[in-house]
Amino acid sequence: MSSEYAKPLPYITDDSRPFWEAAKDHRLVLPLCGDCGKYHYYPRLVCPHCGSRDISFAPVSGRGAVYAFSIQHRAQGPGWTGETPYVTALIDLEEGPRMLSNLIEVEPDPGAVRCGMHVEVVFDDVTPEITLPKFKPVEA
Ligand SMILES: [Zn+2]
Repeated sequence: MSSEYAKPLPYITDDSRPFWEAAKDHRLVLPLCGDCGKYHYYPRLVCPHCGSRDISFAPVSGRGAVYAFSIQHRAQGPGWTGETPYVTALIDLEEGPRMLSNLIEVEPDPGAVRCGMHVEVVFDDVTPEITLPKFKPVEA
């Protein structure tokens, strides 16, 4: 955690507040539809699968696999100075939704990251209010 965090932070809305509050407690929860039974991401209060508004937030495993990744070599702003290269990735969670996040605890090298790599969530407390879910490789 750093009081000098200089990257953009999420703008928390009523729709996403349960997601961010759980992340602060180091728990991953996602919106779950009470009608079709499917999870979705990003958090919103209308199901993208069936249009239902019967949405609650429920815990998920935090496990998934890399769908796609990119290794960033250019700092996107002052907050990234000294942090390149780093890995951004689309993660397919076991429960279905695909999340955009960072892959950490892996060499930012195309020889070290691969699509299908098994990952699990870790939580990065970037400010006293905001915790970002990120992912690290795990054994299958
Ligand atoms: Zn639904």
